[in-house]
Amino acid sequence: MPTMIPNRHLFGPGPSNPYPEATAALGYPLLGHLDPDFITRLDNTCEGLRRVWGTTNSRTLPLSGTGSLGMETAFVNTLSKGDVAVIAVNGLFGQRMCEVASRCGAEVVRVDHDFGQPIDVERVAAAHPNPTVIAAVHAETSTGVLSDIKALGSVKGDALLIADAVTSIGGSELRADDWGIDVGYAGTQKCLGVAPGLAPFTISDAAFSRRVETPQSWYMDLGLLGGYVGGNSGGGRTYHHTAPVAMVASLEAALDRITAEGIENAWARHEAAGRKLQTGLQDMGLDLFAAEGHRLPQLTTVKVPDGVDSAAARAFLLTNFDIEIGGGVGEYADTVWRIGLMGPNANDASVALLLGAIEEAIKNA
Ligand SMILES: *Cc1c(COP(=O)(O)O)cnc(C)c1O
Repeated sequence: MPTMIPNRHLFGPGPSNPYPEATAALGYPLLGHLDPDFITRLDNTCEGLRRVWGTTNSRTLPLSGTGSLGMETAFVNTLSKGDVAVIAVNGLFGQRMCEVASRCGAEVVRVDHDFGQPIDVERVAAAHPNPTVIAAVHAETSTGVLSDIKALGSVKGDALLIADAVTSIGGSELRADDWGIDVGYAGTQKCLGVAPGLAPFTISDAAFSRRVETPQSWYMDLGLLGGYVGGNSGGGRTYHHTAPVAMVASLEAALDRITAEGIENAWARHEAAGRKLQTGLQDMGLDLFAAEGHRLPQLTTVKVPDGVDSAAARAFLLTNFDIEIGGGVGEYADTVWRIGLMGPNANDASVALLLGAIEEAIKNA
């Protein structure tokens, strides 16, 4: 029996549709993870990642797992039992950071914000006199809010700044070095336009020298990983775990495409598409959820209109238009939609398709 393979427009909070180059690269002949041609591919990928991170950090690499693995790696390598972690929470992913940091045995000082609002940098900075780590989410995908990581970097003092850039990378201005990000993690399936499976990661030399010597996780031990990804002192590569070679090829292809477009042009494209969608939704009479002036262009949160069944409308979009959008998170599960325009989807054609389809769904669902 032939299987129907649906071809969806992935306009939710991720995964987004990958770039065609990234999809094609998944079919390249497989290489061994120590093959010299693969090592060249990996080096090129790390170089491309430095460009999208805005960093010269030598330790910039794709970790073998999704964005959440990047989060765990950031915390297990920086926090020991009893260390203080100040964590800004303005959505689901900030909450998850608290959970991960507390499992490292850290004393978590949680700075809560209303969902839909950006983080209050002064309040976060004042939360503890001498934390080991300050952490925040740059682009809160659960609420559609962009926070000012640059401002946080300017007040972090001696703390290491950990930034979640899973949804911002490739879609919003991101300058890890200029902004003082010591440790950053991201994901491939949002604005980088690659399937889920890798976690682009970067750590400064200064942060690496302050890392936990023997972290609780062997797999996520950055000291061990460096011997493979960066080469050890002799330049040789040693086996740590089998790199997901097909995923690395796919990421490399997307990064090559983003480099050809220019990272600043990619940011501008996401900005233009997102603003156009937001204006269009407001013109239809809908209200946006995230605070004005802090809205992500790549992920729009919009209130479900009164009288419309959120789940029925989303099912209508999927059945009639092959369009996936996301519901809200937590208490907003049924009252907010999350609409992503990420990677190759950040364009006018997607905006037009979405606006027309959403109008139909509201009428007919
Ligand atoms: C998607 C996301 C994550 C988690 O990434 P996974 O790839 O789902 O593990 C973390 N933080 C933010 C801000 C995200 O949007």
